[in-house]
Amino acid sequence: MKIICIGRNYGAHAKELGNELPQEPVFFCKPDSAILPKGNPLYIPEWTKDLHYEVELVYRIHRLGKNIDQAHASRYYDAVSLGIDFTARDVQEAQKQARLPWEKAKAFDGSAVISTHWLDIQAPEKMEELHFRLDKNGETVQRGNSRDMIFSIDAIIAYVSQFMTLKIGDLIFTGTPAGVGPVQIGDVLKGYLGEQEMFQVKIK
Ligand code: MG
Repeated sequence: MKIICIGRNYGAHAKELGNELPQEPVFFCKPDSAILPKGNPLYIPEWTKDLHYEVELVYRIHRLGKNIDQAHASRYYDAVSLGIDFTARDVQEAQKQARLPWEKAKAFDGSAVISTHWLDIQAPEKMEELHFRLDKNGETVQRGNSRDMIFSIDAIIAYVSQFMTLKIGDLIFTGTPAGVGPVQIGDVLKGYLGEQEMFQVKIK
């Protein structure tokens, strides 16, 4: 399986990092080795001084597809969950400045937190407004709503599947809202979809 991640998909977040709004989806991948096993803490890698959380809605692909029409895209995912796209912001900035790929900053071991709790999508039209948030040490640091995504999950699937075949079990991180920030040893992050707690991660 592969993990596809969308960047700059919320206007306020693109702005906070000084990025232009994208004309088409920006995407990159994380390997399956990036998934942080449930219950494990995240150890801050020694090669970064600025590790950031990015809370994101994650969709699960349950059908093989290539060149998927946006009008049919909702048939290709069956569940939504919540995760964190951990990012070594200092490393990412250096890569961006040097016009190099982001994998070093985004694809390292443990960089993908994915809740093991999945919400079945029965009727996509009823799933248009998904509220989610991230709390750090009991204080809310990020709030998001799926309606604020620049590119909807259907638009993302149509776009990405022009380049990559989507396979059963692939996951799509859909970008983070504003409020990203650093973590320190001892921090506890908790993600909520609606009022439901989806995950808890301790930083070590
Ligand atoms: Mg992200």
